[in-house]
This record gives sequence, C-alpha cells and structure tokens, in this order.
Amino acid sequence: MFKLALDAGHWMGEAGRRCPKELDPNETREWWLNSRVISKVQDKLSVYAGVEILRVDDPTGKTEVPLKERVQLANEWGADFYLSGHHNAAKEYIFNGGGHVAFCYGKGSKVSFEMRDKLYDALIKHTGLKGNRANPKATADYYVLIHTKAPAVLLEMGFMNSRLDCPIVLTEEFADGCADAIVEVIAEHYGLVRKQEDTCTLTVSGVPQDEADKLVKEMQGRGYVVSVEGRVEAPAEPEVTYPRTVKLEGMPAILAKNIVPFNPNGPLSGWNNTISGGFSASGQPCSILVQDGKAKCKYACHYWYDRPESVLYRLTDGTVGMARVKSTDELPKSLRWAVGGLGLLDNYDPTAEGFCKLTKDDRTENFSDVLRDTDHTVLGYKDGLFHLIYCKSMTAAQVNAYAKKVGLELAVMLDGGHVAAINGSESWAKINTKQKQYYAIQGE
Ligand SMILES: [Zn+2]
Repeated sequence: MFKLALDAGHWMGEAGRRCPKELDPNETREWWLNSRVISKVQDKLSVYAGVEILRVDDPTGKTEVPLKERVQLANEWGADFYLSGHHNAAKEYIFNGGGHVAFCYGKGSKVSFEMRDKLYDALIKHTGLKGNRANPKATADYYVLIHTKAPAVLLEMGFMNSRLDCPIVLTEEFADGCADAIVEVIAEHYGLVRKQEDTCTLTVSGVPQDEADKLVKEMQGRGYVVSVEGRVEAPAEPEVTYPRTVKLEGMPAILAKNIVPFNPNGPLSGWNNTISGGFSASGQPCSILVQDGKAKCKYACHYWYDRPESVLYRLTDGTVGMARVKSTDELPKSLRWAVGGLGLLDNYDPTAEGFCKLTKDDRTENFSDVLRDTDHTVLGYKDGLFHLIYCKSMTAAQVNAYAKKVGLELAVMLDGGHVAAINGSESWAKINTKQKQYYAIQGE
C-alpha cells in the first residue's frame, strides 16, 4: 500500500494569496487553484491499485489547518510521500516573468531531490509553461519540507501575478496538466499499477473455501472490487472403480487392482477386461505361468537353451515383484500368480532371455522373431495398479521405450503377432477379440 499525503497550500480565507484584479477580475484565491490541482491528483490516482490518500488541508477550504498540524497528520498516518501544491506570487504587484518552481528541503532525503527534479520536468512536459526562473529546481526551509518524515516536495505551479502565467494558470487544462504531471511521476517512482478493471466477479466452484478466500483477498489486494458467485465446497471426487479402460500414450489399456491368468480356450469376446497372452504352444503356456498358486508352466520359454526369462509375480500377501528366472523353483514360495515374458525397462535384454539365435545339441533356432514390428501386449505395474496394454505395430525395442514413457515400474512383454488381443470396455479397446486364445490375463 502506497500512502500519499496531499496538501493544498493555505485555505480559502487567507489574506492576499490571489490573482491580481488587473489580470483576473475574479481575483481567484491561491487555495482554490491549489485545491483544484490536488483534487485532480486525487481523482487521477484512483485508477491505480494500492494507493491511500490523506488530504492534510481542509478540502472545503473553510478552515485553516496549521502547517504543524498538517505535518503531524502525515507523520502519524505514516505517509510515504508528501506533496504540497502552491501557485507562486512575485513580490512585485504584476510582472512579466513566470514558470514553475519545485522545492525540497536542502538537507532532505535523496528521494526528495529525485522527486523534486522529476516533478519539475513533468510539469514542463505536461503544461508547456516554461518560465524563466534562474533556479527552478530549488531548496527551501519551508516547514512542511523540514518536518515531514516522508520525502516531501512543494510545487509552485506558475505565477498568479505574472502577465504571462496568470491566464494559463487559470485554465482547467493547466490544472489537468499539473495533475497529470504529478500522477505520472508518483506512479512511476512508486511503481503503482493500474487497476485492470474496477470490478471483477469470481465464479468459484470446486475449490475449498480457504483457497477461494485466498484468491478473493489477492484480487482485492490488486485493487479489484470482488464479488463472488457460486461459492460451494468442492464436490467429492467421483469414486474411481477398477478395472478401468483407458488410453495410455495413445494405446488401449486396462487398469486393474489384480489380475487372473486363465485359459479362455476361445476368443476374448466372452471375457471382459482381458488381454491375450504370453507364449503358448499346443494350447498350453510355454512361458512361466502360475495360476492360483499352481504352475501351469513351470519353465521359462528358453529353458531348454538354458536361458531365463522375466517374470512378474504376486505373492499371497499382496507383494508384487519381478525376477529373471529359469523356473518357478527360483521364485518365492507363496506365489498367488506369476506371468513370464520378455523383460522390459531395467530387465530389457532380449539376448540374455534367449530372443536370439540359440544352439544346443546341434539344434539351432532363431527366436528373435518375437522382437519384430507387430502388435504386442504388455503386463505392467505402476502406482499399485496392473496395466494390461495393447501395443499396436511396435518392435520390442519400441515397446520397451513405450513402457518407459508410460512410467511403468515393472513390465513384461507378452506374445505378439496374430494372437495379440484386448477386450476393454470401450469400442477402441476391443481388438482381435474373435481369435481363439489359450492363454490370457483378466484384470479385476
Ligand atoms: Zn502558496
């Protein structure tokens, strides 16, 4: 908050202090001229946020507020800047000189001097009244300059008894120009920010009460008049249920709290929330598969070639883990289920798991076919949820990159090619659901 003390010099009843009759038949009083500028400053500053103004003279001009009282008011209030507005008069009755003069206290603060100079320059720029003062940026021992705690400047805005100045000083345009000059300098020096709008309406819903209150306070601090509509407590998050069909990085997937490996012995169309498969042969799994604690396939698919595979498993106590093994003998005893496949993420090493050319007893086979660009499925785990994902048209390396992108914590790639299938709850998550399957995983 910026606090500005404004002082229209003198009061209406002060003796002298007026335009001479020869130049102004109305003999306009100095206070009236001062107050016109000061009131305009007040009005023009109202478009800025975070400004408080204290008029230390009597804004009606009816009573005289002594200088000591003016200063005391400003000091006690804690003003950040004190501006006193006057119009000058030369000792001669009428003269031909003129111009603005800006004063600060000779032992005043650095800011007083800066503001004095800026205000003088701005008055010239905004009123065009140049004058011929020898020393227009001056110092003086005026009471209001000496005794204010805040930086203070006193402006003499033209001469009332100058033949040149008087007709100009009397105009509304001149008063506006002076006020514009003062507002421009103060706003710039004290970093005032314009109110973007006078009012704003906040429509608050789905936000906790304390956050809404904070927002309202912040907007008020920025100078808005805030009205609040529709303030309601945040509705409870809709309960998320599983299994759930989602798209993960563009691929259809089923999120589930648990999975059940099973043999559909038919297409997935009759089984919801399922993906096909792993490595099966002759209707049986040929990778490690444990279902309800019983091994449907005890050995890794390249066991005969002495290669292990990656197995994602869950124990009866709920623990989820992964291991690279050749048979279920190497896994923890209390298995609830286990699914073998090609290890992904940190376990991605197709050669170590036998997805390459392998030779044993003069028999050579190439198992790298699994790595080709085709449709694959992935069983992954992340944030307490099993991820059953269909990866369309990817090589194994691309599936691995995808698993990393999704942020899976554990993952194995299951079979690819023509058996890859998914049967989620959305139409875009029903792929290859008519193909007969022997080995599938259902999310639950
Ligand atoms: Zn004066």
